[in-house]
This record gives sequence, structure tokens and C-alpha cells, in this order.
Amino acid sequence: MSKNIFITRKIPDIAMSMLEGKGYVVDVNTEDRILSKQEIISHLKQKPYDAVVSLLTDQIDKEIFDASDSVKIVANYATGFDNIDLDEAKIKGVIITNAPASLSAIAVAQHTIAFMMALATHIVEADDFIRNGKYHGWEPMHFLGINLAGKTLGLIGAGRIGERVALYASGLGLKIIYTDIKQCERLEQECGAVYYEKLDELLPLADFISIHVPLMPSTQHLFNKGKINLMKKSAYLINTSRGPVIDEASLVEALKNKVIAGAGLDVFEFEPELTPGLVDLPNAILTPHIASANQDARDEMASIVAQNIIDFFEGKVPQNILNK
Ligand code: NAD
Repeated sequence: MSKNIFITRKIPDIAMSMLEGKGYVVDVNTEDRILSKQEIISHLKQKPYDAVVSLLTDQIDKEIFDASDSVKIVANYATGFDNIDLDEAKIKGVIITNAPASLSAIAVAQHTIAFMMALATHIVEADDFIRNGKYHGWEPMHFLGINLAGKTLGLIGAGRIGERVALYASGLGLKIIYTDIKQCERLEQECGAVYYEKLDELLPLADFISIHVPLMPSTQHLFNKGKINLMKKSAYLINTSRGPVIDEASLVEALKNKVIAGAGLDVFEFEPELTPGLVDLPNAILTPHIASANQDARDEMASIVAQNIIDFFEGKVPQNILNK
């Protein structure tokens, strides 16, 4: 039977091809911008939609679920799903899925390593230096960086992305330590990673800390002033997970006062807004939530989203269901 699918913003064509290939009618928001909640609600009231494909920038909550009785599945085009009220979805009987693409984990891990390398070598600052006409000849003591080999990387969360970061970093000669709510024996065998049950015990030991936990009530502001103070003065903090895991105002203060050496941030507490002072800090490297932004990763995410919807309507349990 035909189904009506609403996609809140254009995603790779493979999703539309797969869904239309099943005879479903697919409507995509044609404006190249994030829709407001009211705009999503207006779309949902135009037709009895059976499924919605949402983005991490869409807040999917009670108001959205109340706007349509026909929607039976919301397939999030993201690994994270902190933008969706899972409890409310369960109350309404709406299935929620995410899109944890393996190529996306590779992309985010690669971006994390890029942050580590850029922080260790001052690449961003040095590029800026040249473009601003400040390069007047080789200097013996200019832009002194550090070698990654021999340093210690502390991973906060060792799931799909954290494990991949560990593999890449151990190949570069870093020692891996990690904390997670569950121990990962495979990671320990793969790269000799050492498990710390307590975050507070890991923090003083690492030269780089990289965050890979989902945003949940238990991880919101996991990195507050107290935790940042436990890090080495020479250490760098990298966040490619979700912005609110860090209390950004405390991080800006810490970077300004050289409590830690620097940070690499792909995600922000109030994105796209930035905490005042952040952009002025030379020891912070900032990217606009692009860690998974490559075509291969996004194509895989789009095909996962479509497959979750197809499986659901064909009576199978979608592989990435979040609220069984
Ligand atoms: P995952 O579910 O595979 O791994 C998350 C790990 O965190 C799990 O091992 C889990 O046990 C652990 N964890 C949960 N709560 C914890 C806590 N309180 N303390 C320590 N560990 C805890 O997820 P993943 O695929 O590795 O992705 C991690 C996050 O990265 C996603 O939730 C998403 O928010 C973010 N992400 C960001 C981008 C980007 O573009 N920047 C892209 C993809 C994913």
C-alpha cells in the first residue's frame, strides 16, 4: 500500500530513490533551510503522512506528535537522537529510528584525528599567520608544537566512534585510556586500551581528551569547571559529540586562563550560537558540525533512513529502532 513520507530537508537522493522505488509518495521541504517547529506542523497537517524523516536540527516532541495521528515512524537522519522525545514517542506509539552509519563513524573519527593533528602542529594559526602577511622568514622558536607519538589519549565513550578514534590514534603511537559505562574488551585487545571506570581518575592522565558520548541527562555538562580543572594544564579537549556535553562558558574561561592548552570543537552548546569569547581564542579550533560531512557517509545515512522506513512498513523490525 502506498505511504506518504515527509522529509524535513533535502538529503542524498538515494533515500528518495529507495522510498519512491517502493511506490511511496515522498514530499521534501524544498527550502534549503531548517524549518521551524510550526512549519513542520503545518506540513504535517497538509496530508495524512505515514512517516517523517527528521534532521538533528528538528525538535521532535509532543507538539509534533500531536500534530498528526497518521505518522507511525520518525526516522532521524543522524546517529544522535537527543532532538527527539523518545518517551513522548512511546506514549503516542510512534517508532523512532536513527542512522548510525559505519562510514559516518569513520568520518567523525577522522575529524577527531584532524583536530588532534591541527592542535599539535598549530596548522590553523600558522595558516592565518601567513595569510595576514606576518611571515618574514624561518624562525627557530616559532609555532612549536608537540609530537602525538608517545602521548596519551583519553576517550570519553568507546562506542562506534570512540573505538575507531582509538584505532587511528594507536596507529599514530598514542597510548589509549578510556572510560565508558561499560568496559570494551575488544578495544583493549585491539589497541591495548586501558579502562578507567571513573572519569575523574582518567582526566589527569591524558594529553588529549576526546568526547564520544551521546547527549543525555547523565552527560549534559559532563565537562563542567570541576572536570576541566582535573585535566593537565598541557592537555587538549576535543568534542565531536554534542555541544551541551560541555559547559561552554566554563570551557571559554579555562581556555582564556590557560587552565588547559586548547580545544577542538565541532559542536556547540547553543549552536549555531557561540558562547561569547570563544571565537577570539587562538587556542580553540572550531568547525561547524561537519565531522560526518562527506558524501559516502551521508549516502549511507540516507539509505539507512530509507531502509528503516521500508522495513517498518513491510512488517519487519527496523534495524535502528530506539524505542521498542
Ligand atoms: P555509540 O552509541 O556507539 O557510543 C556511545 C558510547 O558512549 C557507548 O559506548 C556508551 O556506553 C557510552 N556512554 C553513554 N553514556 C556514558 C557516560 N555517561 N559515560 C561514559 N560513557 C558513556 O555512539 P557513536 O556512534 O560512537 O556516537 C557518539 C555520539 O557522537 C552520538 O551520540 C552523536 O551525538 C555524536 N555524533 C556526532 C557527529 C558529528 O557530526 N559531530 C556525527 C555522528 C555522531
